[in-house]
Amino acid sequence: MIDCAYCEQPLTCDNCRAEYLPPTEDHYRALSQPDTPLTCNQCGEILICHWCKTPYDGVSEGEEASGGPEGPTP
Ligand SMILES: [Zn+2]
Ligand SMILES: [Zn+2]
Repeated sequence: MIDCAYCEQPLTCDNCRAEYLPPTEDHYRALSQPDTPLTCNQCGEILICHWCKTPYDGVSEGEEASGGPEGPTP
């Protein structure tokens, strides 16, 4: 199960309510890269988190200017 990068709830497609499972490792990595759009592999729509309604459309909302690369998650 994948957690939403924004609200840390189980990442669920708002369109079809399917849990998002990255089909490849590239998709998994894309989760931590907000500039990479993700589409639901069930309905094919741009993935929108069911819980926080954040679209994974490759456009990051409120970009942080703090800089600093994100470390790898364990
Ligand atoms: Zn979310
Ligand atoms: Zn879907």
